[in-house]
Amino acid sequence: MCGIIGYSGTRQASPILLASLKRLEYRGYDSCGMALLNGNKVIDVKKGTGRIEEVNGKVDFLSLSGKVGIAHTRWATHGNVTMENAHPFTSCDQKYALIHNGILENYVELKKQLIEKGHHFNSTTDTEVLVHLIEENMKQAKDLIDAIKKTSEQAEGAFTFLLLSQDSGEIYCFRKDSPLIIGVGNNEFFASSDITSFLEYTNKAIILENYELAILNDECKIYDLVAEKEIEKDISIIEWTAEQATKTGYPHFMLKEIVEEVEVSKHALDQDPIKLAGIVKLLHQAKNVYFLGSGTSYRACLIASIYFAKFTHRNFMPILGSEFKTYQNLFDNETVLFAISQSGETADVLEGIRIAKSKGSKVISLVNVMGSTIMRESDQYLTLNAGPEIAVASTKAFTSQVIILVLLAFALNNQLSEGKDQLNEVIDQFEIIIKQSDFIKELSKKVLNKQNLFLIGRGVAFPVAMEGELKIKEIAYIHADALAGGELKHHTLALIEPGISCIALVPNDETKDDMINNIMQIKARGGIITGISSEKLDIFDHYISLGKVALEPIAMIPILQLIAYHLSVLRGNDPDFPRNLAKSVTVL
Ligand code: GLU
Repeated sequence: MCGIIGYSGTRQASPILLASLKRLEYRGYDSCGMALLNGNKVIDVKKGTGRIEEVNGKVDFLSLSGKVGIAHTRWATHGNVTMENAHPFTSCDQKYALIHNGILENYVELKKQLIEKGHHFNSTTDTEVLVHLIEENMKQAKDLIDAIKKTSEQAEGAFTFLLLSQDSGEIYCFRKDSPLIIGVGNNEFFASSDITSFLEYTNKAIILENYELAILNDECKIYDLVAEKEIEKDISIIEWTAEQATKTGYPHFMLKEIVEEVEVSKHALDQDPIKLAGIVKLLHQAKNVYFLGSGTSYRACLIASIYFAKFTHRNFMPILGSEFKTYQNLFDNETVLFAISQSGETADVLEGIRIAKSKGSKVISLVNVMGSTIMRESDQYLTLNAGPEIAVASTKAFTSQVIILVLLAFALNNQLSEGKDQLNEVIDQFEIIIKQSDFIKELSKKVLNKQNLFLIGRGVAFPVAMEGELKIKEIAYIHADALAGGELKHHTLALIEPGISCIALVPNDETKDDMINNIMQIKARGGIITGISSEKLDIFDHYISLGKVALEPIAMIPILQLIAYHLSVLRGNDPDFPRNLAKSVTVL
């Protein structure tokens, strides 16, 4: 996680870095900092703890002057959230300032060696080791490229970093296992974890691979540190617009992104038929297919796996990204791994992909970010076409994932056009549901704003309820528990007492009668039911309606997202920046 941004050009760097930093804030927001090379060729550093606006209010980043600089917004992995642990870090001689995204796994032993050599540390982070190691390696190296190469051989883990050099006024941008993209503007360059942070200034980007080093000053040179030579890389034109990454009048990105689901889902359906056919062929041929995803993407895997079982009579088992290793023996050259990740950078999913590939398995991926690592390391991929998703809680990317996976289930069953028709009906429902946002807000205020919430569903509605549970916990900080309706009697009924609030997902399908029984069991113990259904049943105490469609559980998704959103706002939280979390989970 963490967001890194560097600027080298003809303009004052601090306003550009500050604006970019705010766009990277979704990646981490416990502290932030900036380093600029000033007119006297001295590196000035300012940093502090808290959100970017808050820190800026204290330190005034714009008072930093210079046309080259780096900035960082942190999601702490090693070392508490303190001012000392905020990036950038400087070397003992103050010649270098460094910001980092990743985890330096062998930092304890490297730090010990560096302390023995006389280096003085100011923080308890893993990151600070990198800047001292480069400083130390410079003593023997012929130049900074050489010192960084040596450092990259000594360091272990994920260590993508930007190093500002006081001597040369250059930024050294090195990538290892966390994303790094160079933005190519008019007489200016950017280096960042995420394209959207510099999209306002340029849509031309160079995506760095592991062990590549870009050096930015008035030009951009790229070196392959393994091959030890300068290389030429293609410049990609990014289709996203800067406007897509702004709130455009909405109070929060999350609400904007829920509203966008109508449009975005249509784009998701609009997949390249040749690519789709290639993936269908691979799925047909595979002896076994496993889905892999984390968090919300894992819920999409669960939903997909049910639809594949229903439509194609095949078992595509979903695996949690972080649990991949437990199942690694299932992978061989007749197996396909189907990886789902919004960012395309999710570390535990990426790790699974690499293991599966080493065993000869083919990898298909579904990502939102073009050029992301997961996309590039897959044999075949589809993109969500959802545009940038900024809110930490995934909404439009999740619905797009579900839409595409269900479409594939239809396609594998030779029913592509029927699938499109049914999914278009779902999208029409999204539009109607989003218009009920104020009603859902009222209900959230009066009925659902409790310390505990239960969600029940059966069949596909069960993982849909699980996604609702995840969202409510993630942004409203309410303890929520989703379960299959039939499980109640095995344990959770013990928690139902008068006044307990329960959301019941009752699609008009084969699960309906059993769901009615489960609802009665809750009501018999005084529980209060908010029913989500296309039919207003007498047993509901409160009711959120949607139209009758074949894929009704999918149409329910935005209702749960809106409940989570409104609960979050009602409780005074910022739904875009849930505490302790960050988007694009690039750590294991
Ligand atoms: N390990 C570094 C720190 O804790 C960077 C964390 C990250 O990139 O997520 O500051």
